[in-house]
Order: sequence, then structure tokens, then C-alpha cells
Amino acid sequence: SIRAPAAKKATTLTVAVKCRPLAEKERGRNIVRFSDSHAVRVLDPDLSKDYLDRVQHRTKEKSYCFDHAFGPDSANSEVYKTCISSVISGVVQGLNATVFAYGSTGSGKTYTMVGKSDDPGLMVLSLHTIFDLIKSDKDTDEFDVTCSYLEVYNEVIYDLLEKSSGHLELREDPEQGIVVAGLKCIKVHSADKILELLNLGNSRRKTESTEANATSSRSHAVLEITVKRRQRNKYRDQIMKGKLALVDLAGSERASETNNVGQKLRDGANINRSLLALANCINALGKQQKKGLAYVPYRNSKLTRILKDGLSGNSRTVMVATISPAESQYHHTINTLKYADRAK
Ligand code: ADP
Ligand code: MG
Repeated sequence: SIRAPAAKKATTLTVAVKCRPLAEKERGRNIVRFSDSHAVRVLDPDLSKDYLDRVQHRTKEKSYCFDHAFGPDSANSEVYKTCISSVISGVVQGLNATVFAYGSTGSGKTYTMVGKSDDPGLMVLSLHTIFDLIKSDKDTDEFDVTCSYLEVYNEVIYDLLEKSSGHLELREDPEQGIVVAGLKCIKVHSADKILELLNLGNSRRKTESTEANATSSRSHAVLEITVKRRQRNKYRDQIMKGKLALVDLAGSERASETNNVGQKLRDGANINRSLLALANCINALGKQQKKGLAYVPYRNSKLTRILKDGLSGNSRTVMVATISPAESQYHHTINTLKYADRAK
């Protein structure tokens, strides 16, 4: 049997904030003029509201409260353990999930998602966990894991697992829901194989072209892992399918340029439609979680249509808002925090 989704339950949304360390060049050891100082501090969750109010009153500091907050000393593995690991075990049990980093260019999105060898990011840790979980249940259950990797750039979808991908279209399939027609879906047997595909795909991203900065801030990359599990014993024979979308988003400065997340989408060269639409969906999910059902406007962009399954039903969504502690980034930081604050 195909397992029916559990009783209609609202998506759970977790909002975490991660502040990266001040970069060496921002410290400006030798260039005094450009030296930067910390504009952000992460406070102890046990501090009383009363105390915070007093500090805020005295210092004019703004304070926000999120599900989780990570300071410059937190490794990616800490973020993973705290907010991602339980979501990943759900994927192997047939639940959908979406994990993405949201923040301005240079705030640490790619670092958080991909990381480096001595501080592997959320994508890397998630993939290893998936295959570890599979390994431990392999004797009783059959698994089938596939992976796809696409890019949304200027509202056009490209296949990053294809050498020279043309424009791909979205199609509404009666059984599978929204699908990207012609998207390559590769069967994989290890986390390392997916990471290899991820690297290959990244080399094809529009971000790698010469004008890296101008484009990297506009492109979204979606890595999707589907885990099909067949559980067969003398009582039942059931198939569960869990999808995990791991997203490296375009820089949020594009969304904050319009200032208002709730604002109606406008077309325009400098506005990233997908990012704004995602912002609106996350905003609606946050309301849904707090006040019950609310309309979630998935249809407004390519990215939100692609992510729909991982943002609806009984899916779990984790947003890691990334910020820089540098004073020079204050404006971006405030925008990201306000945005994340609205989401929860
Ligand atoms: P984004 O993808 O949001 O544009 P990056 O992930 O490329 O930003 O991060 C910008 C810079 O900050 C990079 O040089 C990156 O190595 C560094 N960085 C980000 N987060 C951390 C961290 N937690 N520890 C050390 N360096 C970091
Ligand atoms: Mg990046």
C-alpha cells in the first residue's frame, strides 16, 4: 500500500538565526579606516523579558527572539544537531522537508549549507545521515534514493545535472503533483556520490561565470533527494516516499529592496520574483502555525511551485537566517532579522 499522509496537519516551521564571525578583512587590522565592529550579539535564552526590556531601553538595542540563535562560535554541526537532524530522520520515514538558508550576499548561506572540510555544512551532514539511517535498516527494508539538482535563474529553470541544459518547464502531473518536465533524476547509493553531483552542478551554476557577484546573488539552487522505502513484513507491504529539498537561495538583498514582504509582487529587472514569493509563503506558513489555516500563495513563482511539496501538508521546513556581525552590514542584518521575525 502507499501510505496516506497522516491526518491533515499544518507544516511545521522552524526559524533559526546564525551569525557568522567577523571576517579577517572586516577587522581591518591594518586599514583602520575600514575596520568594522560587532553590531550583533547573541544572548542567553534564559535571560528574562524584563531584563531584556531594560537593556533595550537603556541602549536602544533592538532584540528579537527565534526558535534558535547561533553565534559566531557555533559550528555547522551544532546547527545541524539542534534543528535539522530530527527533520532528516523524518525524510527516511516518508515525510517531506525543506531546509534553506536565507540572508544577504556574504552573510554565510553557502557556508552554512555546504561548509568546508573541517566544518561540513547542513547539506553534507544531512546526506551522510540519510545514508547512515538507510544502512541501519537495510536488512529489513528496501530503499531507492534519487537525486536532482536544478537552478532557478531569472525565473528560468535549468538542470544542473545536464551538460548544457535548456529551459525546463513546470508541469502539473495528476499523480505526482508539480514536476519539472525532463529534469534528470539520478539513482544514488552514497552521500559521496551526491556530493560529487553537487560539485559538478555547482560548476555549471550561473554563479560561476565571470560576473560572479552580480549573478550569484540572483540564482537559487535546489538539491532534491527522494527516499523511497519499501517496508515488507508478514503484516504489511508498504511504500513510503520522503522528499528533502536543500536550497541555496539567492541573496535576500533582492527581496528587501522592495521593503515589504507582504507587498504585491511586481515585475521588474531588479526584483527576484522567486525570492519574494518564497518570503510570502514562509510568512503565510508562520501565520498558519500560529493561528491555524491560512492561504499559502505557492503559485506566484517557479521556486515556490517547485518547493510546494516540501512546504505544505505535513512537511517540515527549516529556515536558517544568516547574518553578518559587521556594522557595515547593519542594514541587511536588520532586514533579515525582521523578515525572520515575521516568519515565526
Ligand atoms: P553567501 O553564500 O551568503 O553569499 P558565504 O557563505 O559565501 O555567503 O560567506 C561569505 C564569507 O564568510 C565566506 O568567505 C565564508 O567562508 C565566510 N563565512 C561564513 N560563515 C562562516 C563561519 N561560520 N565561519 C567562518 N567563515 C564563515
Ligand atoms: Mg553563496
